[in-house]
Parts: sequence; C-alpha cells; structure tokens
Amino acid sequence: MTLLALHGVSCHFAMPGGRALKAVDGVDLAVEAGQTFALVGESGCGKSTLAKLVLGLERLHAGRIVFDGTDVADLDRSGRRRFRARVQAVFQDPYSSLNPRLRVGTILSEPLTARGERGRAVQARTAEVLELVGLPENAARLYPHEFSGGQRQRIAIARALVPQPELIVLDEPVSALDVSIRAQILNLLQDLQNELSLSYLLIAHDLALVEHTSDRLGVMYLGEIVESGPSAEVFAEPRHPYTQALLAAVPRPDPAHPRASGHVTGEIATALDPPSGCRFHRRCPHVMEVCRSAPPIAHHANETTAGGNTVKCHLMDP
Ligand code: SF4
Repeated sequence: MTLLALHGVSCHFAMPGGRALKAVDGVDLAVEAGQTFALVGESGCGKSTLAKLVLGLERLHAGRIVFDGTDVADLDRSGRRRFRARVQAVFQDPYSSLNPRLRVGTILSEPLTARGERGRAVQARTAEVLELVGLPENAARLYPHEFSGGQRQRIAIARALVPQPELIVLDEPVSALDVSIRAQILNLLQDLQNELSLSYLLIAHDLALVEHTSDRLGVMYLGEIVESGPSAEVFAEPRHPYTQALLAAVPRPDPAHPRASGHVTGEIATALDPPSGCRFHRRCPHVMEVCRSAPPIAHHANETTAGGNTVKCHLMDP
C-alpha cells in the first residue's frame, strides 16, 4: 500500500530579476507502507527542499502530495493536525534540533502536552520511547548537552516517535555523526521500522548509505528525479549516466566485482539557470545532439519488476 505519493511536485523560488529557482521540478515518487524510499543526490539538488514540502515547511508551487489516500491540500484544520502527528522528521544535526534549555523529558513530552495530555500517560509514553531508542529512563531528567552526538540523535528519534507516526522523514540522519556511530543509528532505525511498521523517506547524499537501508531509490539532479526503482536493481544495473557516475564513486568491497565505470566532468549547474534540454548534458559522457535541446521524458526501463525502474534519459528513447 502506498502511504505517501508525490505527483508532479514543484517548488520554485522567485529570485531578483524575475527569475525562478526551480529547486524541485515535477517530482513523482511513492513511499510504500513499512518501506524506505531513499532520495539521493549531490548537495543543492533539491532533496532537502522536497523533504520540507512533504513536511509542509515549504509552499507547493505545483503538483499534489497525497498521504494515505488524501490530498494534503484538502485537509481541514483537524486533518492537518493529525497529519502533523502521523508524519514526523529527524534532521541531520542533533545538536541544533534539540532545545538545550529543556530537559529531555520535557522535549519528549511537548507533542503530547501541546494536545492537552497530562500526567502519567505522558510520563509512560516518554519512558516508552526512551526504551525504544535504547536510552535509560533517567535520561528524561538530563539536558541534551549531557549526551554524546549519537545519544542526542537517539533523543531526536525518540521525539519523532512520541506521537506514534507512520512516516518519518529522515533528512541526512547520520551525516553529522562519527563514522563509528553511524551503523548503530542506522541499525536502530531499521529495528524501529521492523517493530513499529514505520515508513521512511530517507534523504542522503551518500549512495553507499542507502544501498542496504532502502527498498526503493530515487536519484535527484537539479530538481528532477532522473532515475528511480527498487534499490537492489538500481545498484545492480544503473541506467542513467548520472546514477552510473555516483555509483562509480562508491567504494566496492569486492574488487572481483567492480562497479560499472562512470565519469562526469564539468561544473554542477545551478537550479537558477539549468541547462536547456537534459539538465545533465554538460557533464554527461554520453551526450548527444538531442540532449542539448530536448528534455528527456521518463521511460520505464523494466516493466517486469514490482513498481519498475524509471529513467529520464535519451539513451532510453526507442
Ligand atoms: Fe546524458 Fe543525454 Fe541521457 Fe542526459 S539525456 S543523461 S545528456 S545521454
């Protein structure tokens, strides 16, 4: 079952001189219930803006965001309140996302007290989420600065769990942490997903991170998803030259099975002044004449797989 679906979602920012920065431009994606959809791409590709659109922190310029079968734009006030509880977020930096002046117990109980809950039920839920993320009950009495970076991210995850969400947007959830801690947090997120049937929209710049942590994958370049599909298939057989280049940069532990080679040159263009035709054409090793003028349309690369692979590239033209 599809829990979250984005249809032609765009977010443009007006810039001086009447120009528009097309941070997100016509994105389609679907997050299945209980699964992880990973959105990957270089810094500035629009993936964090997309996360903000889902969370209602940026205004939709065009398209539809459908959650559990309902267009979010059609929700009334109480529907929006429920939506905000059902969709939570964990951000990159646990240092800045937790109020340093509040005890952890207060931070965790805020979503409940804000909707009028008091007393033992709040305390019980606070203790429950601390246990879920592997922290002792007495953590509630301490302040965020009394914890390590990894523990603070556990607190941020606990806070996201408090309202019993169904979808959590994970915006670079481990990239600010020591390498030694990252696997622990990723394992925790995996365990929580299994235990609570959570769905994740995982935003990451690091393809290596998502290979074993996502069910489906979307590769984003200058505001567009250029390739998407089941993660295992995209990793096994990347079809878009940009995906191939990103994958070629990921170290492969088994030298007997190296990745397909890929090579990109040239400057990353900006979404303020994207190239005509295919936005990747100035960096693409396979560029053809048509790529410079005609934007490629999305092709289904493999109709036989569940959900299929979609690739936006003229190499896929019949
Ligand atoms: Fe390269 Fe052309 Fe495909 Fe763009 S459409 S990725 S320039 S081959």
